[in-house]
Amino acid sequence: MTFTPQPKKRSDVRLSSPVTVLSGVGPKKAEALGKLGVFTLEDLIFLMPRRYEDRRFPKPLSELTPGNIECAVADVAEISAFNGRTEAVLSDSSGIARAVWFTDKIADFVHKGMRLALYGPISDYYVEPQFSHPAFEILYKNKTPTLIGKIFPIYPGTAELPQKAIKKFVDTVLETYADSLLNDFLPSRILTHYKMMSLKEAVMTVHNPADEKQFIRARNRLSFDELFLLQTGIMLRRRAFMGKYRASILRAGRIFREFSDSLTFKMTDAQRIAIYEILEDVEKPYPMNRLLQGDVGSGKTLVAIFAMLAACDSGFQSAFMAPTEILAQQHYVSLRRFLAPLGVRTALLTGSLRASERREILAGLYDGNISIAVGTHALFSGGVTFNNLALAVIDEQHRFGVLQRGELTSKAKAPHVLAMTATPIPRTLVMSIYGDLEVSTLNEMPKGRKSIKTSAVMPQEFKKVYGMIREEVSKGHQVYWVCPLIGEGERELANVIASYEMISSAMPEMRAAVIHGQLPIDEKSRVMSEFSAGNIDILVATTVIEVGVDVPNATMIVIQDAGQFGLSQLHQLRGRVGRGDSQSYCVLLENEGITDSGRERISAMVEISDGFELSERDLMQRGPGEICGTHQHGVTDFRVAELVRDEKILELARDEAKSLLDDDPNLSNEPELKQEILRRLGKVLELASVS
Ligand code: ADP
Ligand code: MG
Repeated sequence: MTFTPQPKKRSDVRLSSPVTVLSGVGPKKAEALGKLGVFTLEDLIFLMPRRYEDRRFPKPLSELTPGNIECAVADVAEISAFNGRTEAVLSDSSGIARAVWFTDKIADFVHKGMRLALYGPISDYYVEPQFSHPAFEILYKNKTPTLIGKIFPIYPGTAELPQKAIKKFVDTVLETYADSLLNDFLPSRILTHYKMMSLKEAVMTVHNPADEKQFIRARNRLSFDELFLLQTGIMLRRRAFMGKYRASILRAGRIFREFSDSLTFKMTDAQRIAIYEILEDVEKPYPMNRLLQGDVGSGKTLVAIFAMLAACDSGFQSAFMAPTEILAQQHYVSLRRFLAPLGVRTALLTGSLRASERREILAGLYDGNISIAVGTHALFSGGVTFNNLALAVIDEQHRFGVLQRGELTSKAKAPHVLAMTATPIPRTLVMSIYGDLEVSTLNEMPKGRKSIKTSAVMPQEFKKVYGMIREEVSKGHQVYWVCPLIGEGERELANVIASYEMISSAMPEMRAAVIHGQLPIDEKSRVMSEFSAGNIDILVATTVIEVGVDVPNATMIVIQDAGQFGLSQLHQLRGRVGRGDSQSYCVLLENEGITDSGRERISAMVEISDGFELSERDLMQRGPGEICGTHQHGVTDFRVAELVRDEKILELARDEAKSLLDDDPNLSNEPELKQEILRRLGKVLELASVS
């Protein structure tokens, strides 16, 4: 353990002081608190009860209801101990009840005639209700009970730290320091307008609520604080950024129109609207910050191409970043096919280029010869210099950490950013993480798409899948076979080969091939283009094909041991099919020993085809940080706020933050607020995207 110097005077104590400044908290206790994530006074003050026990209303014994947790005040009519148990008969004016404790020690100090306050679960006992191992307190001389009569907070506890101890620490910190440490930082206008509790009152209330109504008011106040500070912080940063940097102005021109005329299909209305929204953004001298979300197969790439062509038309470069080499490769191939006839120069930059190829591409990016660079995050590694990068498209942005988005913006002063995702982020989350990020949504699939038929197959019916595959292939279609999820490296390889051999020997007439992360990129792209060309019937793959891969003639995807995959991953994988006019199928193979949650995910997939709905489920199951890759930055690690529950508060917080900054862009009139934003979020905001 590190030694933390203790502040000498009480006035030196801050929210950030270690819990050891409290009397009664030594190194041992501090360590135990640390296991709950409590290190500082602030952590302790804002340690939220997990739940509350309502012990306000003692009931007459005759009204105790089996199955409930109840409290009562009663006299001991009989008490006896035997076989490690204590049993008592209790009485009050309404009738009798029983109590049992699973220890024989109670009768040593609880005697007939005493009055008790009790709290605990009620079970059936012949005729009378029975308290089962209740907490109790002896009420000598009509002493007022402390065990009952109010609402009790229940904190997250550990074996070393019983509730009583935590409660005591919380009480101590509030008694000693609440007055000096909990100062309101919200603008007074907001406090009065919404009749909010003061910060101190809200904190005291969540630890000791008088009733539910008061508790909700307190929680709302604290939740508003968190959301408002984050919104204000993010907007402050973004506005500072926009004010500092001028973005290049991009307008659609000749190439844009030629491309539009060359399309052989009709764009969806949603695509048109999204393109229009983007063009409006990039015509302004501020960097665009737009998220394009649309379910897998909704045609996001096309929208991005139009945006990049507007950059081209205006004489600027664009970068198109994909999360995997396979995807980058594929985008490159289709971009080149579309754009080469229009005279637009594109290049592919990934980590596995030969040195000479890399040099040539770097030179082209540097002198501006190359207009569109497609690549993995290698695009934004050191050594890559663009001539005049004006637009960065980030495909499948949820796959990139927040940090990488920051790196990207270091390649150009203020590029317009278009991030694309098929993992629709619930609106609440988008708002809380990105503040005033703009969102376009492709809520419509290209014409003629049929919804994918999804089915689950038990391990014992495994063989019937071969029949399904044969049928699809006999129609001239192709199939993906996704191998179980087992991590990286050697084991992955062994696994894919095993599946490949199983399939080849079961269906020797099929043309099967293997693709996985260990293959050299040249080999990967050779396999992918063979598959695209229709020369392979079954592609046995790891999750390298998870995102974005687009082969419309593939109409079936089989996912082995599907229970092991996450929900959004399954949905992404399913999105590899259903990209053409034919009916497509997704077959989810259950594994031996599948978990309950695995089975739940499979049935969610069978039941739900809409990506938004699935991602709401995912949010509930996994929590927001996981989904957005922001976990490590703590952007969504709230103490009180819960995005789904507090959506209204979030909207309010955003509106208030906006109007505050409109009036007072630097918060010069709100020094306490500014201070609090820096104190709580300084680190987080530094790391968060330039949004
Ligand atoms: P995603 O949104 O999943 O990235 P893609 O951009 O890969 O989807 O598009 C899926 C497929 O649909 C591609 O083959 C693309 O060329 C095609 N596509 C895109 N827009 C349309 C449209 N309006 N009509 C028909 N096909 C389209
Ligand atoms: Mg895509």
